[in-house]
Amino acid sequence: MRGLSVKVRGTVQGVGFRPFVFQLAERYRLTGWVRNTNSQVEIELDGGEESLESFLRDLRERAPPLARIDEVEVEDRDPGGFTSFEIIASQLDEGWQSIPPDTATCDACLNELFDPSERRYRYPFTNCTHCGPRFTIIESLPYDRQRTTMRCFPMCDACRREYEDPRDRRFHAQPVACPTCGPKVWLHAGEMESGAADPIERCASLLRQGKIVAIKGLGGFQLACDATSPESVARLRARKRRYGKPFALMVPDLEWASRLCEPAPIELDALQSRERPIVLMRRRPDTEIAPDVAPGLDTLGLMLPYTPLHHLLLRSFDGPLVMTSGNLSEEPIAIGNREAVDRLALIADDFLLHDRDIYARYDDSVVRVLGDTTVPLRRARSYAPDPLSLPFTADQDILACGAQQKSTFCLVKRDKAFLSQHIGDLENLETLEHFQSALATFERLFKVEPRIIAHDMHPDYLSSRVAQEYPVPNAVRVTVQHHHAHIVSAMVEHGVRDEVIGVAYDGTGYGTDGAIWGGEILVANWTGFRRVGHLRYAPMIGGEAAIRKPYRMAAGYIWSLCRASEAEFQPFLDSVPIGERIILRRQLEVEFNTPLTSSCGRLFDAAAALLGVRTEALYEGQPAVELEALADAQVEDLYPFDLLRTAEGWEIDPAAVLRALWCEFRAGRPVPVIAGAFHNTVAAFTLGVCRAVRDKHRLNRVALSGGCFQNALLTRRLLEGLRKDGFEVLTHRHVPPNDGGISLGQAVVAHALTS
Ligand code: ZN
Ligand code: ZN
Ligand code: FE
Repeated sequence: MRGLSVKVRGTVQGVGFRPFVFQLAERYRLTGWVRNTNSQVEIELDGGEESLESFLRDLRERAPPLARIDEVEVEDRDPGGFTSFEIIASQLDEGWQSIPPDTATCDACLNELFDPSERRYRYPFTNCTHCGPRFTIIESLPYDRQRTTMRCFPMCDACRREYEDPRDRRFHAQPVACPTCGPKVWLHAGEMESGAADPIERCASLLRQGKIVAIKGLGGFQLACDATSPESVARLRARKRRYGKPFALMVPDLEWASRLCEPAPIELDALQSRERPIVLMRRRPDTEIAPDVAPGLDTLGLMLPYTPLHHLLLRSFDGPLVMTSGNLSEEPIAIGNREAVDRLALIADDFLLHDRDIYARYDDSVVRVLGDTTVPLRRARSYAPDPLSLPFTADQDILACGAQQKSTFCLVKRDKAFLSQHIGDLENLETLEHFQSALATFERLFKVEPRIIAHDMHPDYLSSRVAQEYPVPNAVRVTVQHHHAHIVSAMVEHGVRDEVIGVAYDGTGYGTDGAIWGGEILVANWTGFRRVGHLRYAPMIGGEAAIRKPYRMAAGYIWSLCRASEAEFQPFLDSVPIGERIILRRQLEVEFNTPLTSSCGRLFDAAAALLGVRTEALYEGQPAVELEALADAQVEDLYPFDLLRTAEGWEIDPAAVLRALWCEFRAGRPVPVIAGAFHNTVAAFTLGVCRAVRDKHRLNRVALSGGCFQNALLTRRLLEGLRKDGFEVLTHRHVPPNDGGISLGQAVVAHALTS
């Protein structure tokens, strides 16, 4: 007989860990107890040597699906003389620990949902310890029903019995509910139809009739319509005022996913993962999906149902639904019933509502396979706020306010980074309020009191202003250059802090010289960077307007970098309306509102405009996204480019690239071939600079970050080239390569500079 004290740390609460321990103890006939404290699970055990060993092995190997064990501390002690094993009352201390994010309906709950003999048959709020809502309904921690929006639903006797039975799957499942005691769903305005009283059935029937229905989901409202109906999709676009940007689809099952797309095994895994994100995948040609769902793209964003309500709806509708955030373009997702009915009144024909309040907004997450890794492009529902483990421990709490687009913030406490959910572009009051309320929630939940505040170098970003006005006396404020933050965000994912070659390619970021950077090759570590390479500056005539009208970018390149061959481009320049052409030229000459940029995103814009792929961009990055969609990945051609030696390093002159691309286009070479060669060329000149930097600085590690690395073809080409050449390459795994990952990089730089 031996006695053991065991302490388990990690994500071990709100996941069914105590009942798991209880059942293990029973199985190995051990006596003692288990309890929660605020920071860990504590276990005392008496038993035989062999049984204790088996217990400890299973503790790690068979933990419940949502548990994540970071640390197990085992100590021998004298047997306590226990006679049974019990779950005892929680011990409150000053500590703190996380619980898992919202999780898709588990198989056991799904079986109950469609089993007529179960009391939760067709009940849209079925959940258990292994699945269901978490951070969308939690107001404060520790995680307890009283501190969630479930507190206004007292449990019925049947639910309470499950809740209190350690052998039950619903032991201490805080959102446990049933048709007797739990939330209910109803249709707001829908006319009654004979024979279909169930609101979800009626909702499906409205959708079949081509209606747009706002559905109260997990982290906010979603707008749904029949994805095979061109009229419905067009109506949704017009009412939502969302033009061009692709809509995500929810499909009933994997069979439907394979009917619409060509998923690779790794994409099928992502689709079925318990996070149930939207997965961007190559679409099949000639499907029944309305063309306007994802115009100009070779991909579709698909997700599977992830709440019981979605399962019921999709089972009943039996086809693909557009499922997009319930908001007006650019505004945050709506969460309250009244708020939704108000804000979405002109978009939705009807509302599928329920009375379980949503406490925090979480959009659906989006992932894409880049290289051989599934990478989040939008990290929100089911990912945030799961903390990222840092390779250091901070003495002081840090807040990093992120950038402007695809905004997130990051809070650092000890060795954990809490990256907020995707908040959106910080361009209007609603989004700023979303940012501030999410920040207040995170600070309260995780007991963070930032003393160090990091922000972007851009003085006009709202996030920089939030940082300046953050109410802490004597806070240390740290300004971090945009592309430095990008590179450090990729480095820290791999625990790398020594100097690397950083390739940061994106649309926009404020440079130390006041120009707009975005085609940067840095030598960087956590505390600083040197800019050793970049794309040659080109003028953005009219500033922001050049992003919306990529032909202005092309004209800017022609009149500056391609001046020597301007005559060859005359047919292109002639395609710009004469009045505008004269004004643009004049604007460039007098340098009026014509900032300089080294942006790689803008180079893609110019190429897309020259090839007639897109002359007007309905959203930032659209020209590049369409150029990628068109590109023939079999092409191996390359265009010429020039690497110029400068005082600090290398300058990439893409003039020859644009000239070759234009000549081929004029000669009638197919656009997909030219687009393929263009991608190869961007990868090739990047590799060229990396080689030169390696030789000079004796560095062999390359980190890739920035919005351009959402481009799967560019990423693949560059990865192939770098690896073939013996480079070690660091790419993103858990945070987005786009500006959604910036806040993590800022936080790490701020830590490094202040410790
Ligand atoms: Zn479940
Ligand atoms: Zn009940
Ligand atoms: Fe960026």
